[in-house]
Order: sequence, then structure tokens, then C-alpha cells
Amino acid sequence: MPVIESTRPATRWITRLVPAILVAAISYATFVIVGRVCSQYLISQRGEAGAAITILILYFLFLLLMVITYLRNTLTVILDPGLVPLGPLAIERRKIERDRRKRGRNRRESDLESQPYHSGPDPNPDSPGLEEFYTKDVFTCENDGRPRWCSECCNWKPDRVHHSSEINRCVLRMDHYCPWVGGMVGENSFKFFVQFTTYTACYCGVVLGAAASSLRKVINDDAPLDPHFIPAIVLAAFFGLFTSLMTLTSIRYILLNMTNVDMLNSRSKVYQLAVRVPRGTEATDRFSVVTYPLPRPGEITTNGRLNGTAVPRTARSSSSDARARPTTRDDLANRTFAILKTEPGENLWDLGAWRNWQNIMGPHLLDWVLPFRKSPCVNHESHDSFYPMGRALADVLARYELTGLAMATAGGEGAGLEMKEIGRAGGGGAGGGNRLSRE
Ligand SMILES: [Zn+2]
Repeated sequence: MPVIESTRPATRWITRLVPAILVAAISYATFVIVGRVCSQYLISQRGEAGAAITILILYFLFLLLMVITYLRNTLTVILDPGLVPLGPLAIERRKIERDRRKRGRNRRESDLESQPYHSGPDPNPDSPGLEEFYTKDVFTCENDGRPRWCSECCNWKPDRVHHSSEINRCVLRMDHYCPWVGGMVGENSFKFFVQFTTYTACYCGVVLGAAASSLRKVINDDAPLDPHFIPAIVLAAFFGLFTSLMTLTSIRYILLNMTNVDMLNSRSKVYQLAVRVPRGTEATDRFSVVTYPLPRPGEITTNGRLNGTAVPRTARSSSSDARARPTTRDDLANRTFAILKTEPGENLWDLGAWRNWQNIMGPHLLDWVLPFRKSPCVNHESHDSFYPMGRALADVLARYELTGLAMATAGGEGAGLEMKEIGRAGGGGAGGGNRLSRE
């Protein structure tokens, strides 16, 4: 399994250095809390064994949880951060670049030589991965109704995917690059990341509380000051504040179903959606439509133009086009999508705070506190959309007066559309549902 690292040498070295810093900080905290605060001060000097045992239990409990969540998070981030597979062109391009670097050519020359590669959207209607989109009922798309395309990875970008220049890959539900946990935090690791920051904040709280209360007693008793108390307080306060803020921010994002990336321009962001509508739905002056599978290059559209660039057909042309073109494809497998836009700032992914929480943290208390199972949102098998969409989708459909027509995700009756389409096709068994014909 390849290790995913930053493309920037400085970040790579910082990321590798962090575990050593953490081990040093934890070793020092253990020395201070176990050796100086509990053993030497509370038990030996003051005879407060009960307080010392309480501190030790809390200290080792949060230390254990912190270490487990750290390991789970870091291993996920390094080995399985949730990347979109590279397109064949990007694999070939990266192999050539690697070979060139091995041959010792300088980077500038390599960059210049890589220019001729075509990196626009793949014009092939059977482009690898494209079917994953139009077998869903809703997906985010470009103006022409095709999914978003990453010119670096040469892949179609599922909803909420962003290209990270830090690791030069497209990341599912990308959040941020965190050198403290070894790399890119995305949908596979965000839950573990939040658990790690939460337990680290609790751990720092125990260290801070134990050291600060001991310091207060020393001052009250006018006893000699242990020189390790103050450095421990400063370290615990610094890391505690840092991780508490991270935890609070992350919990807010979970409750809103947002990521750090989503938060950028969140008030002005407009999503463009391809929403499945019954075959033959006409484009209107409010929205255009696209029908999949896209025509092959060379197919003639109704305006007599050679379609060499796989520009999606509009519904005005699609029905007659379908009759005209010599194709063995089953027209019942065609899927028509209306291209719609959200209002600025609408949060498509907001399912309500409780469902948002469960979507990331899991359905049960044990999922929330232990870092074993991944978030439910990593499951993309639903035929509705890559991620569940909330009320905002229903609002979009209502604005376009498509509530009765479009598919189920907004809370409508998905099966209703299947029935309508089967009805239109003459109720034939061959059309027994586009969903069924998927596999
Ligand atoms: Zn990419």
C-alpha cells in the first residue's frame, strides 16, 4: 500500500518530526505527573494518596485513548486517506515524470516537456468512472452537465472531492492537511481526528489541572517550588488550548456537515447539480438538460453538427437524436438530468444536526468514543447521491418546479419516477428499472 506524503519537502520533514516532538512532550508530562506531582509531592510530602490515584487513573485513561486515536488517525491518513483513483492519463503522465526525474533531468525541463499532455475532461462517453455519476440520481456538475474534472489527476470528481496540491491527489470530503497527525484529513479520518483532538484536550486538561492545583498548594504552604511544575503547566496550557479550539471547531463542522474546504466562501458558494428527471423532459428557459450515456464522438446531433467533443445533448434534441443514431444501446438505459443551481450559501449536505452527527460519528455511543469503525459517510453505495443531501435539495427542486418529477433524495418518491419511466416505455420488463440495469 503506497504511503501518501506531502509533495513539499519542508512539510514532509515537519510531518516526520512531529511524532518525535509528541513522544518527547508525553514523556516529559508523564515524568512530571507520575514522578513529581503524584509520587513525590502528593503522596510523599502531603500524604494525599486518594487525590494522586484519581489523577493517575484519569491521566492514563486519556493517555491511552489519545494514543489509540492518534495511531488510528495517523495510519488512516498515511495509508488510506480516501483518494479518488487516478485516471489512466495521470498514471501514465506521473510514471513518465518519475522516469525523467530518475534520469536526472531538471524539473523545469520536465515541466516543459509535460505540457503537450491533454488534461481537459475526457471526451470519451465511456470514460472510466463516468458511469458512477449518471447511475446516481443527483451529482454536482459543470455547466454542460458533466461531472467536475480534475486536470491534475485526470479523473471525474465526485461530490465534495477537492484536489489537494499538498499531496497532489483528489481527496474525498477533504478537510485539511495536518502535519500533527501525519497528513491529509478527509472523510476516512475526520472522525478519528476529532476523537484525537478531544482526548488530547482532556489529557492536557488533566496535566494542567494536576500541575496547577499542586502549584497552588505549594504557594499556599510557602513550600519549596518544584522546578518542573511551571514548564508542565505552560506545555499543557498551550497544547490544551490548541486542541480545544480544534475540537470545538470540528464539532461545529460536524453539526453543520461542513468541512474546512466547504467553509471557504460558504456564504457565496453556488452548487450546480445534475438532477435526474424522467426521460424526454424538455429543457426550459430556466434549466438545460443532459442525457447519459453521452453521444460518441462522431455521432450527428439534430443540428447537423458532428459531435466530436461529446458535448452533451440537450433534451430538445435528445429524443429525435436517439431515433436517428445507429446504436445498439438500450434507450431505456438512458438517463436524463436537469442542470440546476443552488442559491448562494445553501448547504446541500446539511441533514439536521443529529443526522449530521451520526453521519460522521456513527449511530452508537461506542462509535463516538472509540476509533474503530469509520464514519457512515464513507459508504457511497447509495444510488441517490454520493453523500446524502438535505432540505436544500428539496428547496432547489421546488424553485424549479421539479418536486414531482425529480428523484427521491429530496424526500420525494424515487420509485415513482421508475414507474413513470417504465410506463412511458410501454411497461416493458426490459426497462425494469435503470437501477437494476446498473450491474
Ligand atoms: Zn486531483
